Amino acid sequence: MGDTIFGKIIRREIPADIVYEDEEVLAFKDIAPQAPIHILIIPKKEIPTANDIQEEDAPLIGKLFIVAKKLAKEFGVDESGYRLVINCNKDAGQAVYHLHLHLLGGRKFTWPPG
Ligand code: AMP
Repeated sequence: MGDTIFGKIIRREIPADIVYEDEEVLAFKDIAPQAPIHILIIPKKEIPTANDIQEEDAPLIGKLFIVAKKLAKEFGVDESGYRLVINCNKDAGQAVYHLHLHLLGGRKFTWPPG
């Protein structure tokens, strides 16, 4: 497991507000929420960026979205709407180099993004 902050969360070396876990996926509340609902859904497998996703990761990546839509329903934003975001590298503002899907909801979002 890589030594990112999310690796430490997976290994329970630092705390997080975990809202979902299975063998392959972990989801927890973002520490600096940008919306009333802001959850990060991550693979336990260490994949640094979207560029590093391999063909064999397709089911795992699909699972991130399945977990995201279940959490959207659980947190009551499935009907009102939500945004799913993966930032890749510096122009997108990626800060943590462990792949993560942002689930944002509970307010309106502008499009295009700033
Ligand atoms: P990104 O810019 O896509 O790499 O997003 C990284 C996200 O991780 C940011 O929204 C941070 O607020 C969030 N974050 C960083 N450290 C933690 C942490 N210890 N627990 C929860 N979220 C975190």
